[in-house]
Amino acid sequence: MARLKEAAASGECVCQGQWGPAAEYLLGLQHVDSKYFRGLVVRALQLGRRKDVNVLVTGAPDAGKTFVFKPLAKIYRSFQTRGQRERFPLQGLPGRDVCVLQDVRYESFGLCWDDWLRWGDGETIMINVPRNVAGAASIEYDGSAPLFATMADVFHFPLAEARQTGRDVERENAQFRSRWRIVDFPRPIPPERRNTALEACAKCAAAWYAEAVQADGLAPAAAQDEPEAAPLLPCLAAAQAPEPQRPQRKRARSV
Ligand SMILES: [Zn+2]
Repeated sequence: MARLKEAAASGECVCQGQWGPAAEYLLGLQHVDSKYFRGLVVRALQLGRRKDVNVLVTGAPDAGKTFVFKPLAKIYRSFQTRGQRERFPLQGLPGRDVCVLQDVRYESFGLCWDDWLRWGDGETIMINVPRNVAGAASIEYDGSAPLFATMADVFHFPLAEARQTGRDVERENAQFRSRWRIVDFPRPIPPERRNTALEACAKCAAAWYAEAVQADGLAPAAAQDEPEAAPLLPCLAAAQAPEPQRPQRKRARSV
């Protein structure tokens, strides 16, 4: 939290104040409650990687999935997705504060199923590294950097692995889902509302996320008595859906 407030108070705005309104527009478009979503992110920043805490955004192409997490990579020392079919997919993770994993695909990320479960659960994992880097083939990681990821779809336990191991696919899938709060962005941003020039603004995004924390310092989504069976965001009622003709929506530029 301190880092978030510090980034909001210092640094330079690179978006002419447009990042926050664009984020609000986007969440409205996706029928995701803005305070709830920000609460999830702040809660993960506070609690670190663990079950039901890491945040995963799934959804359609061009739905703005990567937009919401991009500034986190500027605000924090972050671990980001490495190349395709990476032999050492978690190399560089130790020492980072957060993980920003954009457009992750199971088959190309290079991390095995069980390690994904351990990583998301907060367990100690062994990270494979080239021998010439660490003098060893693997190093132990027990850091707490929370996971923020975007994917087209939630990972499914590969059928080939299920056949090999005899494990139950549904059970494995449920295990994976339990590591995250999953938020779906099902609606592509209308072409006329897209703004590829809008930069990920660390200052404005930090202010926007920090604003969601209540005066007592507890993120709204951190409530312990939340029903376990509600991993998806509550959808706003249709009447509350954003309407382009609303004046406050007109101020928001495209994402
Ligand atoms: Zn800005």
